Parts: sequence; C-alpha cells; structure tokens
Amino acid sequence: MSVADEIKARLNIVDYVQQFAQLKRAGKTYKACCPFHNERTPSFVVNPDTQSWRCFGACAEGGDVISFAMKRHGWSFSEALAELGKLTGVEVRRQTPEQKAEQDQHEVLRGLLQSAADAYHEGLIGAMGRDVLAYATGKRGLTAATISQFKIGYALPGWTHLLDYLTQLGYTPDQAVESGMAIRNDEGRVYDRFRNRLMIPIRDERGRVIGFGARALAAEDNPKYLNSPQTPLFDKSKTLFGFDMAKSAIRDSETAVIVEGYMDAIQAHQAGFANVVAQMGTAMTDTQIRTLTRTAKRIVLALDADAAGQNATRRSLETARAALQADFGGRLGVDIRILSIPGAKDPDDLIRETPDQWAALVAGAQPVADWLIAMEMAELPPNASIQEREAVARRVLPLLTVSEDNLYQRDNLQKLSLRLKLPERELLDWAAEQTRIEKARQPRPAPPRPAAPTFHDGEPPPLDLSTLTPPEPDENGGAVVELPAPRRSAVPFPELEQQCLRILLRQPTTLYAVNRTLRALAENDRLLLDGPLTDLCLEDFSHSDLRAIMQVFLDAIQQVDAEPLDYLRQQIDPSLQPHLDAILTDDALVVYNRVRGMMSADLRFVWQNNQRVLMSVDGSAELVEKALYLRGNRLKREREILSLMQVDAAAGQDDNANVFYTQQIILSKTAKQRIDAELGRLGTVQRE
Ligand SMILES: [Zn+2]
Repeated sequence: MSVADEIKARLNIVDYVQQFAQLKRAGKTYKACCPFHNERTPSFVVNPDTQSWRCFGACAEGGDVISFAMKRHGWSFSEALAELGKLTGVEVRRQTPEQKAEQDQHEVLRGLLQSAADAYHEGLIGAMGRDVLAYATGKRGLTAATISQFKIGYALPGWTHLLDYLTQLGYTPDQAVESGMAIRNDEGRVYDRFRNRLMIPIRDERGRVIGFGARALAAEDNPKYLNSPQTPLFDKSKTLFGFDMAKSAIRDSETAVIVEGYMDAIQAHQAGFANVVAQMGTAMTDTQIRTLTRTAKRIVLALDADAAGQNATRRSLETARAALQADFGGRLGVDIRILSIPGAKDPDDLIRETPDQWAALVAGAQPVADWLIAMEMAELPPNASIQEREAVARRVLPLLTVSEDNLYQRDNLQKLSLRLKLPERELLDWAAEQTRIEKARQPRPAPPRPAAPTFHDGEPPPLDLSTLTPPEPDENGGAVVELPAPRRSAVPFPELEQQCLRILLRQPTTLYAVNRTLRALAENDRLLLDGPLTDLCLEDFSHSDLRAIMQVFLDAIQQVDAEPLDYLRQQIDPSLQPHLDAILTDDALVVYNRVRGMMSADLRFVWQNNQRVLMSVDGSAELVEKALYLRGNRLKREREILSLMQVDAAAGQDDNANVFYTQQIILSKTAKQRIDAELGRLGTVQRE
C-alpha cells in the first residue's frame, strides 16, 4: 500500500472536505458550492464511494482527497502527503533495507563522479592541460572564473587514466562502469569512456555531479559532443544543464531561457545572464517543463535557427502544450516564447560577440503563436491548395488555444485567417472543437499523440478491409455507406479502459486470469505485489465514472446473492446507468453496422452466425493483454507524479524523501519492464 493509499484509507474525503465546503447530502453523493470558485448553484460534488471530488463548474476538475488538499492549500504533492500524513498518523518517510542499500549505492556513485570531476579539472589546469586550457580560454572564450565555477576539465588521451585514478581511490571497475565513466567491452576489458575531451560536469538541481558532457578536441573524434549514458543518477530527459546555478535568477526574473547546448548556457552565465539553462540534446520533456514552471512564469526557447533546431523547437512546443493542458488545463498561465537568432548563429557566438543584443532578443522574444504562424506560412507554397492551408490551420490552432487570454487568441485567429485565406468563423469552430477535445481529456496527462492511432492509445484498431470478401452489389448498390457513429455518452471514455470493463462485466472470472498474471510477474517480490504489480483495481482506470463502475463490479464479485451483472445494475448509481449501457454496447455489432453495406448476403449470414460464437469465447487472454496495457499506462501516469515528488524532495534537500521516491520510481520501472516483456511474449509490441 502506498503512502497515498494509506492516507486515503484513513481519511474520509467527506470529513476532510466538510471543513472547507457546506456539503449537503444528494443521493449517494454530497454537493456544495465549489470552494475554489465563486458560484451560486452548487456544482461541486464529493462522492464517498469513490472517495473523490469533482467541480463540474468553472474548475472542471476533480480528484481524490490529496488533490483536494493540494488545491485548497497550494501544497505540492509531497507537502500534501506530509501534512495529511501528520493528520492521519501515517508515516510518510519509510525506508526499507533495499531503499537504504540503493541510497548507499547512489552515494558511492556521487562520490565517484565528484572525484572524476576533480581529476578532470586538475587535468585542465595542470601541466598536461596547457594546450587545452589555451583552447578553452582562447577559441571558446571562457574566463578562468567560469572554468572554475563550472569546474570544467580535461580528460587526458589514453585508455585508463581515470580508471586507474578511481581504482587508487578504492572504487571498483564495476562502479566505474555503472557511473558511466568507463566502458566494458565484449572481452571484458574496462577502459575510460572519455578520452582527449573537454569535460563539462552536469549537475542535478542540488549541484551534485551526475554526469558529464564532453566536447571532442581532435577534429577526427566523433561525435563532437558526447554525454554520459543513462545511469542510476543521470537521466537526460529529466536534467536541465545549469539549473542548479540558474534557479535563483529564474525565480527573480520569473523567466527561464532554454538554449540547446551547454556551451551556450555557460557562455550566457559568463555574460551575466544567469537565468539560462540547456536541454540535454533532446526535445524538451514534460519533466523539464514542470521543473521550470515551478518558478518561471515565462519560458523562452532560444534554439538554433537551422532546420533541425526548428524541428526540435516544434517538438518542444508540443511537449509544452501537452504538459500544460494535461495538468493545468492551460490555466497555469505560463507564457512560452520563441527567440529566433538572426543570421543562423549559435547563442554561444552571439552572446560572446554582442551580449547586449542577446538581452534585447530575450526581451523581444516572439509569442509562440506568432512564431508558429510565421514558420508555417514560410513553408507553405505560394499557390497552396485549400487542403494544404487547412492542414496548417489544424496544426497551429491547438497551440493557439493554450493561451487563456481571449483577446490574444482572437488576435491570432484573425492573423491566421488573413494569412491562410480561410474564414475566421471556420477557424473558430475548429478551435472550439479542439478545446472540447482537450477538456474531455482532462485531467489525464495527454502525451503527444502519434500520427497513426494505435489501439491501446485509446482508438480501435483500423479495420482491415482486405480480409473481407470484395463487395458485391446489394440493395445499397454496393457503395460504402457512412453510417452514423454509434451513440456514446457525452464525455468519451478512454477506449482501452472501456474495453477492459466490457470484458470484465461480461465474464467476471477473467479478472482472476489478470491477477494471476500480475502476481506471476511480481515473482514473489513483496514490494511489487503490494505496489505496481498489485491486483487489477480502481487506480487502473483514469476516468472517474469507470472507476465507480469498477468499484461496484469489485463489490459484485464479493457477494453471492445475485449474478454480478444483475447486482451491478441494481447497485449502480442511476447517473451511471447510461455509461454502463455504453460500455456494454457490443463492439462486434458496431463493426457489423459499419461494414454491412459492403457485405454480400452470404457474408452477412456468416457474420451473424459467428457473432454468437464469438460472444461465448473466453475473454481471459484478451483481457490479460489489455489489462497489462492499462497497468502500463497507469504506471506511466503515476511515475510522472513520483518524479515530481522526487524533484520536490531534492529541491527541499530532503534526502529520505528523495530516496523513497527514487525507490518507488525504480519499482515502477521494474514493473513496467516486466509488463512490456510479457506483452512482447504475448506477441505484441508496446509502443511508448
Ligand atoms: Zn469550481
């Protein structure tokens, strides 16, 4: 049981929320005027069965008692756990022997990396590094103060300089490999990863060395920049170079500037622009954005002007949009801007040559929308077809709707309409549609969606028409008939969750097949059995209505008085009845309705007969696979929260909490790996 679960088990949400809202009983739920926004008609509901709250009004969000407390008091997740832990007597910071062992291992690796940084720095300022130091201060334009502040170093040529030094200090070759500083080849020989390179230590938020970026010194050495590999301490998708030194400047200026390379960031700091951080050579990630939005109100992306840079910028923007809309509904008010550097220069060069121009460029960075419209227009051919122009509009609109500022949105719509020669009315409709879709997705995280839908991504698999008999003329003339989509409830459910529930409701015993699989994957590991590989449960469902139905289902299979489905129909909250019906709507029938116009009379006959057979097939195998995807999705969701908590703990210099969350993340990753392996074994490929 997780700390959060333990708190939730001890703290009734009704009792807690009662202190902040005038709850009145309404059927199985409680209603009140929302404590978070001003209203006269109650649209705030607390459901004691699911231990959840929801504001159906202006907030349009909901969650559990922890998210309520976070929102009410402005707490971070870990603060909420700490406070509610005190209230309920749940000890928040526990450490198992395994966690202790891992913390010790991390300490060893940190010590090793710090020693490596010291050795490299000595190498640069010592006799052997004379030429390289001249290069760093000359060609790269770094001052002695910068070299010392960033502890820049030099990895000597040769195969075992660092390794020998580390072993002298008592570190083992295994530890050197594990830290990413050494490589073991197929013959088992261990040697230095970095040779004859300028070494730049990469630090975590607390300034502790977690890896290195290394620039080649010899022209023939490839790649030009080499980073530490992923290690227990270094995850480049979560790291922002320079953040430890930029934190306070970002807080003071409320602006974070993101550049592409660490040399750019170092140069900026040297010139006095201390609010600059660097990505680690990838498009910006969710975690990086969240880290910055803790203190920055404005994020300026200053990426290279070449085509690759622009693509990276666009990927970063999409990540930014997804992150903001998923968790904050765009209400966070982070202002994302793009800094275009004239003349295809690196920030590094520009800052060195004309630092004043850099300051002006940051101040005058373009709002995302303006930049995006300009870029899309530049790529559009002069006589673009209506389809091409529509495609541009659909790409740009979602990013325009991030802004909560209506005036700004309207202004951009006008611009877009003018540039694309498309009626503003049409663009407005699309924008509204986009907002509806995004609202429906909240508050679940919305990762950037792949171009082609995959079935576990919430869409049914594309129908393979080639396997059907070629259409013959029938009473519809053989044409493909576009039938209206099947009736659905107003808010679309995640398809995969709905499919799982459908199988469970029809064949309740399939649940045991799923739980057997999960337990087998846990391999008797208590932490996994009680944690990420626990039996299928409410938390696997992200949609609160589906959770509610799942809860009644779990109750249903605990009792013996009625058939589970009958029990469910009797016990379910009347408001959920239409949802239950939607879930039980027959998939096969939907498909049949869609393609029946193309079927010959014979094929229709075969279909109708076989459908009955299909209904009686054991759904265990299908459910196991789908439930594993479901659990995988949940682990991903939870890991985002865990990462946030870990970052919080690290920022608060809380070692115990940091270690605890790190352990939880590792457990979650282990479980996810086993799930993926099992899915691989089942003959499918899990796409990240
Ligand atoms: Zn509200």
